[in-house]
Amino acid sequence: MDVPAASWLADRRRSLRRIAVVTGAGISAESGLPTFRGEDALWQGRNPMELFTPEALATRTRESWELFDRLRVLSARAEPNAGHRALAALARSHGVTLATQNIDGLHQRAGSRDVLELHGTLWRLSCAGCGHAGVNETAPLPLLPPPCPACGGPLRPDVVMFGEPLPADALRAATRAAETCDLMLVVGTSGAVYPAAGLPAIARAYGALLVEINPAPTELSAQMDYAARGTAAMLLPVIVRALRGD
Ligand code: NAD
Ligand code: ZN
Repeated sequence: MDVPAASWLADRRRSLRRIAVVTGAGISAESGLPTFRGEDALWQGRNPMELFTPEALATRTRESWELFDRLRVLSARAEPNAGHRALAALARSHGVTLATQNIDGLHQRAGSRDVLELHGTLWRLSCAGCGHAGVNETAPLPLLPPPCPACGGPLRPDVVMFGEPLPADALRAATRAAETCDLMLVVGTSGAVYPAAGLPAIARAYGALLVEINPAPTELSAQMDYAARGTAAMLLPVIVRALRGD
C-alpha cells in the first residue's frame, strides 16, 4: 500500500480545506463494474465506444440498449466499496465537491450528496418524443427499448453518449470547484474523455495540489503533484484518514 501518499498529504493537510474530487470507472472496478478500457465479459467483444453513441441508439437500438441494460443490472447488484465510502466520509469534515464520470449511482448509494454527474446516470430515462423524464430502477427492463409511460415512444437513458455535450450545470459546478479547491483528487480515470479530463489542468492553473489515485499511469499523471499507485478501495480510506487527521 502506498502509505507515502498519506504522509505526504498529512504534512499539508492544514492548508487543504476545500477538496474537489474527480472520479472515473476505476473507482467502481472493485465493486465489480468493468471499466471501458479493461478487459471484461460485460462488453463481450463489443465496443462500448461504438454502441454508446446517439447514432447507434437510433440505428442499432436493441444492441445498444442491451448493453445499457446489462450495465444497469450489474450496477444494481453491485455494492459501493471502501473507496466510495471514504469519499462520502470526507465530506463530513471538509468542503468536498465530487464530480463523477460514472453513471452507476454508487457514490450516492455510499452516502455522497450533491454528486455532479458529468456523464449523467443510468437510472433516469427520458423521451425525445414528448419530453417525459423520470427515475426508473427496474433492472433488467422487461422491454428494450423501454416504452415511454406518457406516449409509448422509445425511452433513452440520460447518459452522455460519445459525441454528446455534458450537462451544462454539472460541468459549470465542477469547473467552479476546480477553480476554487485547495486539493483535487483524481481517482480511477484514464483522462482520455474530455471535458472531464480537463478539470485537473484548471485546478492546477488556479493553484491547487493534484493527487492521482490509480494503479496505472494515465494521460494525466504528468500533471500530478503526487501519483499514488494503488487501487481506490485500498488507498482512499488511508488518504481520507490522513486528510482528516485521524
Ligand atoms: P476508463 O475505463 O477510461 O479508465 C479507467 C481507469 O481506472 C484506468 O486509468 C485504470 O487504470 C483505473 N483503474 C482500474 N482499476 C482501478 C481501481 N481499482 N482503483 C482506481 N483506479 C483503477 O474510465 P473513465 O476514465 O471513467 O472513462 C470512461 C467513460 O466510461 C466515462 O465517461 C464513464 O462515464 C464511462 N463508464 C462508466 C462506468 C461506471 O459508471 N461504473 C463503467 C465503465 C465506463
Ligand atoms: Zn414520451
